[in-house]
Amino acid sequence: MNHLTNDQAAPAPAPAATLQPNPFSLEGQVALITGGGTGIGFDIARCMVTAGATVIITGRREAVLAEACAELGAGAHYLVNDVADLPALDGLVAELEATYGPLDILVNNAGINLKKPALEVTDQEFARILHTNLHAVFALTRAAAGRMVARQKGVILMISSMAAYYGIDRVVAYAASKSAVEGMVKVLASEFSKHNVRVNAIAPGFIETEMSRTAMNNDPERRDRAMRRTPMGKFGQPADIGHAAVFLASEAARYITGASLPVDGGNSIGF
Ligand code: NDP
Repeated sequence: MNHLTNDQAAPAPAPAATLQPNPFSLEGQVALITGGGTGIGFDIARCMVTAGATVIITGRREAVLAEACAELGAGAHYLVNDVADLPALDGLVAELEATYGPLDILVNNAGINLKKPALEVTDQEFARILHTNLHAVFALTRAAAGRMVARQKGVILMISSMAAYYGIDRVVAYAASKSAVEGMVKVLASEFSKHNVRVNAIAPGFIETEMSRTAMNNDPERRDRAMRRTPMGKFGQPADIGHAAVFLASEAARYITGASLPVDGGNSIGF
């Protein structure tokens, strides 16, 4: 039933937004992916190159990066960088922009894990995980975002984890770091939205990579438990994260910010 009277005319509909031919394209975009030589980062790079981006991957091992770039093809380049060296991160972004042009997309993917009962974790071990997974993510994001805000354009993605969603035992430092990243996403999204810079997280479920294989193979009980609570009944592939990253970085996601997207085969809602 229409409750509007004649003098309460409905507001004029907003003009329809023009649709780009392919809003999922990353053609002409420059993307930095930390830890892009292996695992999830490599497949984020692969999917972004396929979507048309120029991708720069970083990591500490030059041979790994060179091999990855050879596989990724002409759209991929590398810079050797240790994200834990915080004072060097502004220089990394400056060097990248001088060589490849303005940075459009930052993917904070590099991360390390430590599996140990909480009571055995030393302060040094805890600090080491937080340093790479949190402090470095903030320092690099600040370096990139300062430039993005000045240009009024940019996308920042964080790779979080199910460890930020629910209690997984023996990963106390890792879970603390990823939970903090989730909090940071919301604050940065709020601060940067008016500057046309979006900030989101992807929370991978159990994805088959070197990191997870080592953790799972040494602990079949954990592997079975993870599988049991994954409704789709299989572990994810790195490309599953890559496709989600392309979407969140693209114009198709232009109204999405401050979100954390689980890419987990339903693991986070599994009983
Ligand atoms: P990998 O171990 O395969 O990859 C980690 C990458 O990070 C490597 O390329 C490594 O390169 C790089 N890296 C580590 N430390 C540094 C550093 N100090 N400076 C620069 N690069 C560094 O792990 P995944 O692909 O599995 O993990 C990628 C991300 O996804 C991580 O943030 C992880 O926490 C997250 N994740 C993974 C899940 C999974 O199931 N696999 C689940 C949930 C989250 P190098 O050693 O050469 O520096």
